[in-house]
Amino acid sequence: MVADLHLSEERPEATGRFFHFLDHTAKGADALYILGDLFEYWIGDDDTHNSLAMQLAEKLKSLSAKGTSVFFMHGNRDFLLAKGYAGQSGMTLLADPMIINLHGTPTLLSHGDLFCTDDTRYQQYRKWIRRPAIQKMLLMLPLEFRRALAGSARMKSEREKAGKPLEIMDVNPDAVIRAYREYGVTRLIHGHTHRPALHESTDSGKKLERWVLPDWFDCGGYLVCTSAGCQLEVA
Ligand code: MN
Repeated sequence: MVADLHLSEERPEATGRFFHFLDHTAKGADALYILGDLFEYWIGDDDTHNSLAMQLAEKLKSLSAKGTSVFFMHGNRDFLLAKGYAGQSGMTLLADPMIINLHGTPTLLSHGDLFCTDDTRYQQYRKWIRRPAIQKMLLMLPLEFRRALAGSARMKSEREKAGKPLEIMDVNPDAVIRAYREYGVTRLIHGHTHRPALHESTDSGKKLERWVLPDWFDCGGYLVCTSAGCQLEVA
């Protein structure tokens, strides 16, 4: 499982690390789950001049051709990634959140922004931008215009992040408990907060574990899950 790679032409080290991870570490795994923010931004599958995305599609496709199923869940940066690019890279798109049976343990996967309910402005924006009609309209805009929009949205988000208290940027504990109960799971895996950790707790005698995936800005990492359990590793 990986998340928050935020790949872009501006961060070649992260791209290099992830390509190495795909060629060596992920090779031979049953499945690779990418839980959102694979790209720093995504303006549409029709942006075919994106050479980084084209190279990555080839790598992912060859990984899946060798027997590793590749799954992709949208993040808040790449929510416009659609069937075209997913097909080109051999990835299966997943809804957020999604329950999977992970070696016998029902596990809830999510990008994680859903649980940051203290940031009410962001949650309103998320609801609006995820509406199919809004996305359809966005995709009708010329590519260059979409690129400019993405750039200003990133700048705005960075500015706002700088002014927000740190707690608001993390998940809300009640939203997390609600998710465990609503989906009847004892394990939750997500990214988005860039605060890699294992959070263990109990609810009515049940042991709960929440794994938070790291970002790939400085070093990168991933979560390995086997029937024996999960473990965070540095890439
Ligand atoms: Mn995110």
